[in-house]
Amino acid sequence: MRVLRSFGPLLLGFLFGAPAVAHATINVMATTEDLAAITREVGGDRVKVDFIARGYQDPHFVEAKPSFILKLAKADLLVAVGRELELGWLPPLIQQSRNAKIQVGADGYLDASLTAKILEIPTGQITRAMGDVHPLGNPHYWLDPENGRRIAAGIRDRLAKRSPADASYFADRYADFDKRLALAEKRWDAQMAPYKGLRIVTYHRSWPNFCERFGLDVVGYVEPKPGIPPSPSHTLELMQEMKRLGVKIVLVEPYFDLKTPNSIGRETGAKVVVLAPSVGAEKEITDYLRLFDYDVNLVISAIKETGAR
Ligand SMILES: [Zn+2]
Repeated sequence: MRVLRSFGPLLLGFLFGAPAVAHATINVMATTEDLAAITREVGGDRVKVDFIARGYQDPHFVEAKPSFILKLAKADLLVAVGRELELGWLPPLIQQSRNAKIQVGADGYLDASLTAKILEIPTGQITRAMGDVHPLGNPHYWLDPENGRRIAAGIRDRLAKRSPADASYFADRYADFDKRLALAEKRWDAQMAPYKGLRIVTYHRSWPNFCERFGLDVVGYVEPKPGIPPSPSHTLELMQEMKRLGVKIVLVEPYFDLKTPNSIGRETGAKVVVLAPSVGAEKEITDYLRLFDYDVNLVISAIKETGAR
């Protein structure tokens, strides 16, 4: 009887000419934990998702391990941040995977930035003197929940293309994610509303989308230029500017040395806050919505602590 029960669907499938398992699992590799988390939201049990960069790592610099090549070799779909964020490490991994499906331009390569709102697209000529400026705009765009929604839509469409039989499943999952995200956005917007226009400083240019969305005004960076480590003269200038403007918050990504931010904090009375740039940056940040729960709560408690307005 037990045997019959488990073979029943298979038998039915055989009789009606349809395979018992109509839904193949799509193997997805994401370059970051954020993209992996959003893919899981949309893909549900029809995808198997793995990722390369961990949420607490600097996504500009990732060690290209052989294990990544093996995983990429088996992937049906590669979801990348794009905008040259992974320029230093992803192209050789893709090449060495020898997987035709996920080469740039193939159906199995998805540049998640193509459906997102991108800030800081430089106009005019880019020179080396400008530092590590991304010529295609700021690649840290997933830090606005509206872009999370747009990334999810891009993933939904690509998964449906790969597995048309599951298109409505992916559409339903997307609609559910969209609904939960919209509810959470109302909460985050309400929490942040009293602090519109608050001036802050950040270490790297990781937060333009986050700050635009939640009304924070970034007036300076610990890095003198993107990707360039702090220098004494720039730090001095920054501290003078912070004192002049009354800046009380310095946001730092978890992968930067806290030495300079801490001395800036001591000198100016500002609070140094290590914010999570990605899902997985902290144990409790297990999905895309929790990323904003974590960051919004941390920013607000820092504002309250410092009395910054
Ligand atoms: Zn960057």
